[in-house]
Amino acid sequence: MDLPKHVFFEGDIIPFEQAKISVATHAFNYGTAVFGGIRGYWNEEQKKLYLFRPYDHYRRLLNSGRMMNMEVPYDEESLIQLTLELVRKEGWQTDIYIRPLIYKADLGIGVRLHDLKDDLTIFSLPFAHYIKNDTAAHVTISSWRRIDDNAIPARGKISGAYANSALVKTDAARSGFDEALVLDQNGHVSEGSAMNVFIVRDGKVITPPVTDNILEGITRRTAIELASAELGLPVLERTIDRTELFISDEIFLTGSAAQIVAVTKVDFRPVGMGKMGPVTEKIREWFDSVVRAKVPKYHHWNVEV
Ligand code: PMP
Repeated sequence: MDLPKHVFFEGDIIPFEQAKISVATHAFNYGTAVFGGIRGYWNEEQKKLYLFRPYDHYRRLLNSGRMMNMEVPYDEESLIQLTLELVRKEGWQTDIYIRPLIYKADLGIGVRLHDLKDDLTIFSLPFAHYIKNDTAAHVTISSWRRIDDNAIPARGKISGAYANSALVKTDAARSGFDEALVLDQNGHVSEGSAMNVFIVRDGKVITPPVTDNILEGITRRTAIELASAELGLPVLERTIDRTELFISDEIFLTGSAAQIVAVTKVDFRPVGMGKMGPVTEKIREWFDSVVRAKVPKYHHWNVEV
């Protein structure tokens, strides 16, 4: 893995090796951090790097921070500027992934959210595929349940909540699956370990609503917009039952890391014809052009580095 050369840490851009937190850091002990995952896409013809929807990512990061009683002296714009400064310094000429974190930085013992110092760190890495089989993924239904919004905020990216995602992912991977879908406390389909889910049934694109314990995904919002505006399909945000997965024409997953993943098998049952369907294929094509700043209509989502 290529490591970063620099990191934004404790208010400055410093060499990556020098950015160290203590073993007594609150966030390390209790998972009291929130994070983001932003992709930068290299446009080979233009020889330029573009961040995809950083404003929306930073808005969600700050909102996740609000849920966790965090206060930092930054807004979306200043976070984008810091990120641009960092990424320019790295000089990446490839697809990258940017990881910002806001974390409870005090040292010591004591579970709480209040009266603690919050700090920000950001680093970036070269990044290609997250799911290898992204045109023919085989997923299972996890025996784990998705965290409930009344246990840990599900709509935000809270570090501690990713113990749930890690349990889901490891069991699926060790059983030979590419990924798993997780049911929420009510038994409805919520999402994957780190991606949102869509099904296609009878020409309609369907995805769980943000009130079904899902992360409010930015790729999810992008896919909704592309399906509706470019493919002209009706998009419904409604609860999905487990058995609907078995009778869907298509299933796909969305995430900044995962991008758009075609699911062609669920627990050994073929999805539709058992291969990537036309809606998924078109959304993948549109998505790839849009993120690389090749579609003027969506340039407001691309921030040039
Ligand atoms: N759900 C979870 C649990 C995730 O971790 C992610 C990745 N951030 C997603 C969905 C997809 O969200 P996004 O499209 O904003 O990356």
